[in-house]
Amino acid sequence: MSCTGNIAAESIAVPSGLRDRDLLALRLHLIEYAQVAGLDDLIRHALDQITERVASPIGFYHFVNADQKTLSLQQWSTRTLNEFCQAKGKGLHYDMAEAGVWIDCVREKKAVIHNDYESLPNKKGLPEGHAKVIRELVVPVFRNNKIVAILGVGNKPTPYNQNDVTAVTDIAEATWHIIEQKRTLEELEKSNAALERSNRELEEFAYIVSHDLQEPLRMVTSFTNLLKKKCDHPLDEDTQTYMDYITDGADRMKQLIEALLQLSRITTKGSDFEDVHLNETLGNVRHDLQFRLAKTSTLLEIDPTLPTVTGDKNQLYQVFLNLVGNAIKFNHNEVPHVTVSYKPEKDENILCISDNGIGIDAKHFDRIFSVFQRLHARKEYPGTGIGLSIVKKIVERHHGRIWVESVLGKGSQFYISLPS
Ligand code: ADP
Repeated sequence: MSCTGNIAAESIAVPSGLRDRDLLALRLHLIEYAQVAGLDDLIRHALDQITERVASPIGFYHFVNADQKTLSLQQWSTRTLNEFCQAKGKGLHYDMAEAGVWIDCVREKKAVIHNDYESLPNKKGLPEGHAKVIRELVVPVFRNNKIVAILGVGNKPTPYNQNDVTAVTDIAEATWHIIEQKRTLEELEKSNAALERSNRELEEFAYIVSHDLQEPLRMVTSFTNLLKKKCDHPLDEDTQTYMDYITDGADRMKQLIEALLQLSRITTKGSDFEDVHLNETLGNVRHDLQFRLAKTSTLLEIDPTLPTVTGDKNQLYQVFLNLVGNAIKFNHNEVPHVTVSYKPEKDENILCISDNGIGIDAKHFDRIFSVFQRLHARKEYPGTGIGLSIVKKIVERHHGRIWVESVLGKGSQFYISLPS
């Protein structure tokens, strides 16, 4: 048991063995306890409970390693620690070959009771100063035919019996079950935290890179302009074309950098959430797009009963500006028709931006939401291919979803669901 100290076996007036109902209540209690406790704390608590119920001053729970040859010493009951044992070596790997008779449960692959420890012929003898063992009960926990843990109790004033085996096995099993769940949850939380960290780092990186690219780009633009001015005679056709390419490239790069900067700021530099009246937001979108609407003779219809949602006002404005902007852009109709409508669902508000434009082939439905993914040449339709990625990221920051339905040549419907 790896403990040192003095044993003082006491009589505890608790009936040995537990009824099914008590065991169930104890299991439920442990599940509840596990919600707020760490792994060590949970195992210690489980040991405290079971040792008290089977009147045992000693209790320990050890993990059996996958090699089935070593144990990792894990936890002792509070009473064992306080009264008998220094619990040295917690977490250490411990060779089972060196262990005492208590490890018989692993060798025999079943629960073992040693009611008269003194008389055991094959006992190894306890290290000097080790707590005196009178009797013990040790049970293995199996998973896929392998032993994964053992729970031992010791020094009950009266002999251990089948009731004790049932109770200790039950709690050893239940504890392992909770340990497995907790470990899975902890792994999940760890990988979530790592993912969040790496996303944040990526955003920081994109922010720094795009921010730092602005300066050299400004130099390219201003020196190209200076060069143009410095040539006092008209430029020959080739030079003029080359200069135009440089200016055009620099303009495009500026647009891309600005869009990337915007994308990288969504999570880290967003504003606090507040009540956002979507009819007001859409009113602003209509106002800011008024010249494009007039120039393209677009009919923009907005449902006057759009809901109020909780969110980042500026970011939600950006979502609708991008979607309505696209609905106007990817449209060849004499009268492009764009509608913004709304359907309340149980826990969410579903908003739809619908157009009668060029439509999208179903095979591109996912792709268009990724950065730099465009379905057309820039000459055909200008753009950076970042607009929908920005929209998606904003919607996700609002714990919402976005998807598209479309028929090529007939028009598209972009749906956004926001929690109500
Ligand atoms: P951009 O508009 O700058 O090209 P987006 O990310 O906003 O970039 O859109 C990505 C692509 O999705 C567009 O290039 C276009 O092919 C397609 N798309 C987006 N909105 C529509 C729409 N309303 N109708 C048809 N195609 C669309």
